[in-house]
Amino acid sequence: MVASRGRGAEHDCIDPATGKPGSPFGQSVCLGTKWADDYFTRVWQFIDQTGFTGITVDGPYHGCPCASTAHAHHRGLTDSQWVQWQCQKKMFEEEQRRGMSAGAPDWYFWNGQSATSLGFREASANLPRELGLLLYRQYIYDGTWFKPPTMGGMGIGLIGTYTDDPRARLEPLDQNLDWYELNLIQLLGSGCQANLRANRLYDTERTQKMLRRWVDWYKRHRAILSSDIIHVQRPDGRDIDCVLHVNPQLKEKGLVLFFNPLAETLTGKVRLPLSYTGLSDTAWLREQQKVLTVSGGSGTAVLYGAYAFAEKLGVRFYLHGDVVPDAKAAFALPELNETNQPLFPLRGLQPFHDFPEGPDWWTLDNWKAVVSQAAKMRMNFIGLHTYPFQNKDLGPEPTVWIGLPEDVEADGTVKRSDVTTWYNTQKLQPYGCYQRAVRTRHLWLGLDHPELPGAGPSAAQRRGLQRHQHVGWQRPGLAELRPAGRPSEVGHSLVRG
Ligand SMILES: [Zn+2]
Repeated sequence: MVASRGRGAEHDCIDPATGKPGSPFGQSVCLGTKWADDYFTRVWQFIDQTGFTGITVDGPYHGCPCASTAHAHHRGLTDSQWVQWQCQKKMFEEEQRRGMSAGAPDWYFWNGQSATSLGFREASANLPRELGLLLYRQYIYDGTWFKPPTMGGMGIGLIGTYTDDPRARLEPLDQNLDWYELNLIQLLGSGCQANLRANRLYDTERTQKMLRRWVDWYKRHRAILSSDIIHVQRPDGRDIDCVLHVNPQLKEKGLVLFFNPLAETLTGKVRLPLSYTGLSDTAWLREQQKVLTVSGGSGTAVLYGAYAFAEKLGVRFYLHGDVVPDAKAAFALPELNETNQPLFPLRGLQPFHDFPEGPDWWTLDNWKAVVSQAAKMRMNFIGLHTYPFQNKDLGPEPTVWIGLPEDVEADGTVKRSDVTTWYNTQKLQPYGCYQRAVRTRHLWLGLDHPELPGAGPSAAQRRGLQRHQHVGWQRPGLAELRPAGRPSEVGHSLVRG
């Protein structure tokens, strides 16, 4: 930003020895100039418009001595570094004013800085990754005695910093996935500010999945991971090391991390000072969350997987609705390793239309309810059983279109249709539904049904009545229409979704 960055003779620091532009770090700009006013105005505009929540700077350095007497904000050499330092201090203050994280490698906490490195040597970036992993864990351990983890920053070099030695970097990420994961676990698990030196965060779907898993894990435990660290066993590369995050004010009062630096299984006893968590009687130690993945070859397959999983938990799906077990299920993921596929390509129902109460009468809500339940039962097919117009008793079904495949456009709209009618009570009905026009009070559950108190059926009874009608389902929109056999006395038209 400043040191070693010249911005033109007019703004650069003037070397007191020569009276010409020049600074100890190469040419540096002077922050006592108008250039600095413009620069920081733009920085804060950028921050406010993008919503950035943190800046980590290198330094800051105090500004180089400047012997200029023409610069706007300092008189000459004697006050030049003081003015420039005030300017840099102001940057921390502006970050604080915005509630931002203000990180810097050096120690300026009294001036508004909020985070610094937990431990850092330039050379450590060149270590082979197995040594780097251990050293960074030691940095975390040693750097959190006097400050909470959120006041510390630690990096992972996905690319080399001072070397491109393939033994030091984590790129290509997919090929070093285990190392990348171990680095992420100890870094995110420490709760400190994670800085990644990288050109990209993932290179393959596998890498992205791993990254997401740990970022999700971090987010779930963010509060406790950001809490204080109790140092249990320092990493030495020879035995189990351990830190314990504690916060008696949280629901999740402790989170412990164990690391085994060796390639072999280690067993041993570790005493956890749980009193810092506020837990005094009983503590339950739970291993890292199990993850159960439901996946499938298509969106529908994933949906079926989710429904199948719900059934494993005891839920049952029926056309009339879901049945959830009365007993509370244990809060635990079952051990599952299953792959399923349908036994039949077509699975569905074929409701009758040959009574006025058939699917024609269903409301949009009825249809939605039936279609939703059918999907939960992993059905993908609708068949409509209808009587064609040749039927002398019934005539064509009310509102039901009957025709041949060539009568339907590819998008499901109908090109031609035979004459049809709405149902009415004057129509001959040989199956005993409505043989003659009747008063509605004579209908089942009619308005003055003797079993009903008050004026009519209750909402619950009306729902019961609706459920009674749920005998089939349909998927809206005709994708394919094909007659199964020649329409005759009884015709079948199959509609496939
Ligand atoms: Zn100056």
